[in-house]
Amino acid sequence: MNWLRKFMIGRYGVDQLSIVLLVINMILSISLRFLNNRILDIFFIIIPIIVVYRMFSKNISKRYQENMRFLNVWNPLKKKINNRIQRMKSLKDYRYYKCPNCKQVFRVPRGKGKISITCPKCKFAMIKKS
Ligand SMILES: [Zn+2]
Repeated sequence: MNWLRKFMIGRYGVDQLSIVLLVINMILSISLRFLNNRILDIFFIIIPIIVVYRMFSKNISKRYQENMRFLNVWNPLKKKINNRIQRMKSLKDYRYYKCPNCKQVFRVPRGKGKISITCPKCKFAMIKKS
């Protein structure tokens, strides 16, 4: 493994962008297999080539910037998806409301009957069923 370590000195390596590209490539290639489309086949070869090129690239600052640009889009998206998942998991115990005044979303425990809810952000009060 020493030759590999020597070979990778000064090269960029793997980052989040590469991993996400590979995962997307894998999911798409499996789910679109039945289409039997030659153009798509080329597409699924190009993505791994891009990933390998980025991995062995010596232009580390450029690859780093690419990854940063990607993370600027990816991280908020990931956070949004995680929030949705958390919300779906807690739907059994909590009910979600959006404040009609400031659009803030908040949750109240289920099964408490009609309750008066005050928006934690703008203090707008409303009566809702929990
Ligand atoms: Zn509010």
